[in-house]
Amino acid sequence: MERSFLFDQLSESEHEQVLFGSDPDTGLKCIIAIHSTVLGPSLGGTRFWNYNTEEEAINDVLRLSRGMTYKAAVSGLNMGGGKGVIIGNPYTDKSEMLWRRYGKFIESLNGRYITAEDVGVSTRDMEWVSMETDYVGGMPKYLGGSGDPSVMTAYGNFVGMKAGAKKVWGSDNLEGKKVLVQGVGHVGSLLCRHLAASGAEILISDIREEHLQSVSSTMKCTVVDPDKVYETTADIYAPCALGGTLNDETIPLLQCKLIAGAANNQLLNEDVHAKLLRQSEICYLPDFVINAGGIINIGAETDMGYQEGMARSRTEEIYGRVETILKLAEKHDLTTHEAAMKIAQDRITAMKKLKSSF
Ligand code: NAD
Repeated sequence: MERSFLFDQLSESEHEQVLFGSDPDTGLKCIIAIHSTVLGPSLGGTRFWNYNTEEEAINDVLRLSRGMTYKAAVSGLNMGGGKGVIIGNPYTDKSEMLWRRYGKFIESLNGRYITAEDVGVSTRDMEWVSMETDYVGGMPKYLGGSGDPSVMTAYGNFVGMKAGAKKVWGSDNLEGKKVLVQGVGHVGSLLCRHLAASGAEILISDIREEHLQSVSSTMKCTVVDPDKVYETTADIYAPCALGGTLNDETIPLLQCKLIAGAANNQLLNEDVHAKLLRQSEICYLPDFVINAGGIINIGAETDMGYQEGMARSRTEEIYGRVETILKLAEKHDLTTHEAAMKIAQDRITAMKKLKSSF
């Protein structure tokens, strides 16, 4: 048989299952990828995005779901990795019935996949999904859920950034540090609030004028043209838009000492670009370590309701986790990405052994 586009890719990335859902009545075209359920049910948000091609959507859902496995593992959660993508325009194509149909697809997986919000998706959208399935995290607080995960994601990003600053400058005080936040949507705008409170000098960039406006109307900041982000001098670059921004073209242009952002899959090629950053003497904090606040928050939804204090203190553990990863990388001459992956892989391997006996 000829090399298959999909199955070879699935076996290389070690995915367990992929579901394609189509519903012409509502216009729903979705893909749900379950990467691993070794640690528990797969958890990962749903992204609503105007992909240029179906191949682009498939690649995105495979990359994102794999990333969720390692994010949960490195964060010590009993969750596996999964992700959903819906192909469409998040500003014009969403409807109650589309979301409810999507909820039915999730329900058909019988708990192997739990969804939540990601780019282009709101808590209101998740309410509709929850009318058809219980396998939804990050529900609004008034419905007993943990609310928008972006709040804790941004906080964890901030905490991780401070630990990175301590390594690079010997102090985790961000006062006066120039931080460039690329993408000021849910997470980026909330990260800016923490940065403003800590006295950092804030630079923001976005492709949507209204998002720039809403941040710049509440705090002092400088707007950077989206095309000029990579060559702009800053102490810290915080990618909070989409993935793949650390690549052959952008890394040689970067004028920062630390990269600490929430966007998933920032390294276009994990191995090549993590090494290129190390050669360029830029300290890169692995995205899946410092953007875990959102799933940590969802993990705090217990049978007794949402435990906000626990979510906050578990998110603060990101500080120590960053320190451990930076030390491990230094000790074994690894990139920070490799060090984080090692910790995650070791936990998955140990859990496989633990589960092998009754
Ligand atoms: P969002 O859609 O609210 O915000 C993304 C922002 O990036 C938008 O304002 C968008 O206009 C902007 N943007 C898109 N392309 C851009 C470009 N080329 N240059 C500058 N800005 C651009 O999404 P979000 O929830 O804030 O998530 C941001 C990133 O963080 C995503 O990669 C997401 O996967 C990741 N993430 C989010 C969470 C969460 O809790 N929301 C958790 C973990 C990871």
